[in-house]
Amino acid sequence: MNGPVPVEVLKQHLIDPEICIRCNTCEETCPIDAITHDENNYVVRADTCNGCMACISPCPTGAIDNWRDVLRAEAYPVDEQLTWDELPVQDDALAGQGSIGEAAQGSQGASGGGAGAAGIGVTSEASAPVIGGSDLVRGSVVPPWSAAKPYVNLYNHKAPVQASVVGNYRVTDASTESDIHHIVLDFGKQPFPVLEGQSIGIIPPGTTADGRAHHARQYSIASPRDGERPGYNNLALTVKRVTKDHQGQAVGGVCSNYLCDLKKGDVVNVMGPFGSTFLMPNHADSHLLMVCTGTGAAPMRAMTEYRRRRRMKGATGKLMLFFGARTQGELPYFGPLLNLPKDFIDTNLAFSRTPGQPRRYVQDAMRERAADVAALLRHDHTYIYVCGLKGMEDGVLQVLQTIAGEAGLDWQALWQRMKTEGRLHLETY
Ligand SMILES: Cc1cc2nc3c(=O)[nH]c(=O)nc-3n(C[C@H](O)[C@H](O)[C@H](O)COP(=O)(O)OP(=O)(O)OC[C@H]3O[C@@H](n4cnc5c(N)ncnc54)[C@H](O)[C@@H]3O)c2cc1C
Ligand code: SF4
Ligand code: SF4
Repeated sequence: MNGPVPVEVLKQHLIDPEICIRCNTCEETCPIDAITHDENNYVVRADTCNGCMACISPCPTGAIDNWRDVLRAEAYPVDEQLTWDELPVQDDALAGQGSIGEAAQGSQGASGGGAGAAGIGVTSEASAPVIGGSDLVRGSVVPPWSAAKPYVNLYNHKAPVQASVVGNYRVTDASTESDIHHIVLDFGKQPFPVLEGQSIGIIPPGTTADGRAHHARQYSIASPRDGERPGYNNLALTVKRVTKDHQGQAVGGVCSNYLCDLKKGDVVNVMGPFGSTFLMPNHADSHLLMVCTGTGAAPMRAMTEYRRRRRMKGATGKLMLFFGARTQGELPYFGPLLNLPKDFIDTNLAFSRTPGQPRRYVQDAMRERAADVAALLRHDHTYIYVCGLKGMEDGVLQVLQTIAGEAGLDWQALWQRMKTEGRLHLETY
């Protein structure tokens, strides 16, 4: 009996350190913890990655989609990858000979493939891509059918575009600790076409303690495609100043502090745009169910404002918003939001730290409006967007499941269908 033929040449999965914006999406997505990082780079463990491709579509920059054919015994180790400033060149003698190996070939059919979608010939046996992405990814990896076509990665860190600051003001109450800024960047005559739901990369000036240039940070665009000021080549960001890390220890976030301290006329280096799936539908009868916390409001503001500007042009779909913050004072854009007409957007706020009041989260507000949420879930033209704190994703999916179940809907089937139809978009950080 012949045993399996040993695979000598490995198609090694690598991350391009020059493009990667260290957003952590791939590490969260990888079902077998093949991705790791330090303060310098995100890297893939050659001995763990099975080539399932679950990480390919969610990566906003395409940095994840890099492969080198190497002798298996000489695969680049994690320690070496962590020091890279750029990818190594492909050894011509090995080019085209690599395969991911037996484990990977066995798993590809099950988990679906970004490989084909991304145009990578991984192995000759690789199964056709599953449109809609892997079962391991919880949200859609395709845009709504009627979304406009986005431009992505027009500018990278080697050739960023310069934008001028034309506005920077605080949008949370001065009495609160939460310092969130509305920052308007103008691109002048430089092309920077964007869509609602996309994000950009900001390259902060200066270097890290070990002398490396800071990597870019990602920020959602908070204004519609035709500009923060309609007809102008500008866009807005909603940036929270990071003063504490996730453990509550005092820390000065490099990029958020840089952005929040910018003055009018300052020039900023920008990469992007990023994102080709978290986009809004453009057909007039599409409904938007938006759930956000904190700066997760940015893409919702962009989509809402685009719909508001188009309102006179026949958009009939409903907008329903669930927006959470610790207190009213910490909710960005509180005043303008309340000024939007009730027949235009159904706004539901949830505050988790109002003194003397029970804690209320977006999930609680959704539960209270279960009948209306269920009515939207029943509609084939409903598109769901979730953006904000990482912790909210589980809770929102759980409450959707409960509401769907109580309304007699099969959530597992609906969830799967919404994913594959580009109708369930999750972006948490
Ligand atoms: C898809 C995507 C969209 C994003 N959109 C926005 C947006 O619209 N507005 C926005 O303000 N941010 C947004 N972010 C987060 C943003 O990219 C930065 O991570 C954030 O501004 C912190 O960067 P920093 O350089 O200030 O902090 P760093 O110097 O990178 O981090 C300093 C320390 O603070 C911790 N830390 C980082 N972020 C936070 C946080 N939010 N809360 C607590 N601790 C933190 C880090 O772990 C680290 O220990 C988005 C991220 C992603 C992935
Ligand atoms: S291809 Fe699959 S196993 Fe490899 S890093 Fe990406 S998600 Fe993880
Ligand atoms: S940019 Fe892509 S490769 Fe880099 S951390 Fe984000 S998802 Fe991973």
